[in-house]
Amino acid sequence: MTLSTLHPETAVARYIIGAGEPFMTEIKAGQTLRLLDLEGNQAVDTLFYSAADPSERYDVQRTLRRQGRVYLSTGSVLYSNLGRPLLTIVDDTCGRHDTLGGACSQESNTVRYALDKRHMHSCRDNFLHACQHDGRLGKQDISPNINFFMNVPVTAEGGLTFEDGISAPGKYVELRAEMDVIVLISNCPQLNNPCNGYNPTPAEVLIWD
Ligand SMILES: [Zn+2]
Repeated sequence: MTLSTLHPETAVARYIIGAGEPFMTEIKAGQTLRLLDLEGNQAVDTLFYSAADPSERYDVQRTLRRQGRVYLSTGSVLYSNLGRPLLTIVDDTCGRHDTLGGACSQESNTVRYALDKRHMHSCRDNFLHACQHDGRLGKQDISPNINFFMNVPVTAEGGLTFEDGISAPGKYVELRAEMDVIVLISNCPQLNNPCNGYNPTPAEVLIWD
């Protein structure tokens, strides 16, 4: 775990993402993005795209293969599907972030929980909602994502489990943009597993030059 030297008072932009809400912004190469878990145990589902050409996007497989580790933390370089660095994690007070569990959706709610959970609010719906407003991204662009602050341990048998969070109020992860990137976030509304402590809460986004 590493601490940032940046102060919130000097940020050039600050946004609060309400509990369960979508969010989209753009950051420039060299800018720093902080995602802050305001109340603790909040999964922040995130996707990154090249702003110059949004068909270039975050690539889970390439990122994990190149770093030789299954979790993301300080030092992790997030690679695109063209093999270029999109962002680098430069500071992290949580210590571990998942990128294997994917985003919740109507389909996963139905399969994992019950048929009558189908119409509950999901991250996939949030992503699509934000894309529709922005216009540059569509359904075909929603790919495997990062779950910042979410605890999805890989078991000895090679399976995945959703566990109670290791994050806490005020924990953050900070990333430096290596190119101009679009940031697409679903502040996860999931109520059926412990990824949000069964209680979705707000998250903050801060950006520095
Ligand atoms: Zn979710």
